[in-house]
Amino acid sequence: MSQFDYDLFVIGAGSGGVRAARMAAGYGASVAIAENYRIGGTCVIRGCVPKKLLSYASHFSEDFEDARGYGWNIDGARFSWPALIAAKNTEIGRLSGIYSTLLKQSGVTILEGKAVLSDAHTVSIGERHFSAKNILVATGGWPSLPAASKVPGIEHAITSNEAFELPDLPRRVLIVGGGYIAVEFAGIFHGLGAEVTISYRGEQILRGFDGDIRQHLHEELTRKGVKILLGSHLSGIERRTDLALAAQLAGANEPIVVDAIMYATGRTANSAGLGLAEAGVRLDKTGGVIVDSYCRSSVEHIYAVGDVTHRIALTPVAIREGSAVASTLFGGVPVPVDHDDVPSAVFSQPPIGTVGLAEADAVAKFGVVDIYKTTFKPLRHTLSGRNERVMMKLVVDAKTDRVVGAHMAGADAPEIIQGIAIAVKAGLTKRQFDQTVGIHPTAAEEFVTIRDKRTVRAKE
Ligand code: NDP
Repeated sequence: MSQFDYDLFVIGAGSGGVRAARMAAGYGASVAIAENYRIGGTCVIRGCVPKKLLSYASHFSEDFEDARGYGWNIDGARFSWPALIAAKNTEIGRLSGIYSTLLKQSGVTILEGKAVLSDAHTVSIGERHFSAKNILVATGGWPSLPAASKVPGIEHAITSNEAFELPDLPRRVLIVGGGYIAVEFAGIFHGLGAEVTISYRGEQILRGFDGDIRQHLHEELTRKGVKILLGSHLSGIERRTDLALAAQLAGANEPIVVDAIMYATGRTANSAGLGLAEAGVRLDKTGGVIVDSYCRSSVEHIYAVGDVTHRIALTPVAIREGSAVASTLFGGVPVPVDHDDVPSAVFSQPPIGTVGLAEADAVAKFGVVDIYKTTFKPLRHTLSGRNERVMMKLVVDAKTDRVVGAHMAGADAPEIIQGIAIAVKAGLTKRQFDQTVGIHPTAAEEFVTIRDKRTVRAKE
């Protein structure tokens, strides 16, 4: 008999926690998982999945317009936000139910409520106390907002959490931030008919992405009618008597008047009040759990995966990390997590897919880099008449001919880059890309037919 109630106690039933719990139980461990909101976590309940459903919904406005060029006449199309939110909620409920069922079928005990560490081997939920040989912290992240001292009236702003549950579609929206969530929701609100303004503090949206991709998305969003303010800082928000919100931008004479202000200014680890520091778990300056490549914290039997670790905040990465922890602890195979060449997508409109290094990072790393880039009007828009271009780019280490980065902005970019990511991860060369026969007519075939080369050298 073990001296502990559980071999593994998982705190947080999101993507990473659920995967770890199910796999650990599959290896024969006794496992409990605690959740204080809904099974499924950010991705299922108020992140990736509902975001993509809303993104699909918003795309129909352009699809209806494009259909005219193909002989369709779709007059009288109307959109209902409450109907969309209700349908989305039904699907989220179904998915959350599936997650619970899978956990139960694996033999995992589900405990509802906020779990905190009362000591390094004890997890408490209210008055209930459970001893655990190992603990996995998988509590995810939470939207971060500036303090009211910095932005008076910030209490009137919403985040993506609330955006998924608004009773009505706002007519005018101001989005603060220039990252994933900002550009994704700009596309959603705009596609559904709202006037959208993005206020971003930097010199170009999507910092960290390839420069050409950032520029391309900026141009495409602007062409669609999304207003992007760069070098822009919000200094205060006021609720007016007509219930609209007045957003004051630093240096501007007049406020911007909108119906909703959404902050998408990053997310921080959900680690406060869990008793982590008291149990000896080291946290970074902003509360992320510091872990090694095996996801082990500074306390040997306490692990952490997913957004709470401030590594790469992506669902598939959290799932990988959760699997790795289960395998390390109970599968007899210690598995470090490989965070290199992780592909990602931004479900903006047009969407972005990316894997490997941006041009500037590759030049800094390799010194000499060959760039293959193309922009073109996709076949679909010859008849639709839409003035939207696709951009594709390969970044190649000139010395070895290895493709070290692939980037695309345009329809289906996330789907296409998922395939290209295998080639980049496998270290294939541009020559091997060239040897691959394309599929015609597709946009994806450009990745094996781009020949125009530009060589970029690091400045001495
Ligand atoms: P991001 O880190 O992508 O972007 C945050 C944005 O807010 C940046 O533009 C940043 O500017 C800006 N910002 C940060 N702090 C402030 C501040 N105090 N005042 C003004 N602006 C500020 O975060 P998101 O919130 O968009 O998303 C969180 C994470 O969730 C992402 O990083 C991603 O990992 C994940 N995610 C993934 C998605 C996907 O896979 N498709 C979709 C949505 C989220 P600056 O660039 O200057 O720092």
